[in-house]
Amino acid sequence: MIYKEYGRAGIKVSAVGFGGMRFDLKKSNEENAELLLYAREKGVNYFDTAPGYCEDKSEDIFGIALDRMSDYRDEFYVSTKGMPTEFDTADKARGGVEKSLKRLNCDYLDFYHVWCIRSMAQYELAMKKGGQYDGLMKCKEEGLIKNIVISTHLPGNKIERIINDDNFVGVLMGVNILNFPYRWQGVEAAYNGGYGVVAMNPLSGGMIPKFENELGYLAAEGETPVEAAIRFCVSCPQITITLIGFTTKQHIDTACDVAAGSKPFTQEDIERVKSNVSENMNAICTGCGYCMKCCEKEIPVANYMQAYNDKAMFHKSEKELIEETKFHHEWGLLVDRKASAADCIQCGKCEAECTQHLNIIERLGEMAEWEAKI
Ligand code: SF4
Ligand code: SF4
Repeated sequence: MIYKEYGRAGIKVSAVGFGGMRFDLKKSNEENAELLLYAREKGVNYFDTAPGYCEDKSEDIFGIALDRMSDYRDEFYVSTKGMPTEFDTADKARGGVEKSLKRLNCDYLDFYHVWCIRSMAQYELAMKKGGQYDGLMKCKEEGLIKNIVISTHLPGNKIERIINDDNFVGVLMGVNILNFPYRWQGVEAAYNGGYGVVAMNPLSGGMIPKFENELGYLAAEGETPVEAAIRFCVSCPQITITLIGFTTKQHIDTACDVAAGSKPFTQEDIERVKSNVSENMNAICTGCGYCMKCCEKEIPVANYMQAYNDKAMFHKSEKELIEETKFHHEWGLLVDRKASAADCIQCGKCEAECTQHLNIIERLGEMAEWEAKI
């Protein structure tokens, strides 16, 4: 295992973090708790959960394991979360912290996330006077929380604005080998601002293991696409922790082996990924952002085209794509949109700008149909 400094927090964390969002719910809580103990033996020292994960069982599973690990409490870090939309006052924020502490069998939390910020309005809600952040600061003063951090699905320029406000010590965001061009501005802003950067979704929501054959170009000789995707995040200096949702001991072994032998992702590796993306999958949006400012209707073209990648890359069915679009409306790429696909007037300006020469108008037409069926 390799260990990295977590921004300015003054602690060293394992490059691989335990994400508590993919337990096998056919197993008992006790069986799933074994995974945390196993991961600790393998050198993992960052354990991340949230209320609601795994049908709300994740914090309870963590609680069983953390109780058994309590003799070593100062050797690992526990992280959980609360949404400002739920905890919209300082008192409610404290209530959320106390509830998590109880479930996790801990006296204190090392990291507490202002969770799942999908719009600047939600960020402002968290930061309002007497709101969640104020409540968390009070918990911090009392020693219930060591570090206040944020998790977000915002685009890079908005993450940069939050970093510049300097209220947190770390940020959790979805970044991986497939989407890094789109996310990199936020990663760099956080890293340069002295934040710890935690990558969630390093396997693209399970897409990389599921489509290993199609994504063979991600891997260098002798490795699998999954290993390459983990290596990309683990070896990246800007990413502090790569959070992986473990379901089996074998998953833990794979991630820890990659971290142990972590060769840096070379420029050659990055070029291979990029060139293969454009050569073999030139129908995908690379997230370059060149189309972002040209739409007079304010349609977030790059976000729509990133969402469309699921069809271009993975040939999902229409039913799955409608579900995905619904997810993007509520949680993902399309949360903050001022206009929707159906607002397109087919002026063609975005297509003229598109570095991938995508048939954006046609794709938006399809996506408008999916949106109409949500
Ligand atoms: S074609 Fe549609 S999406 Fe593209 S710039 Fe024109 S109105 Fe916007
Ligand atoms: S210019 Fe094309 S490839 Fe780049 S973000 Fe826009 S749609 Fe995607």
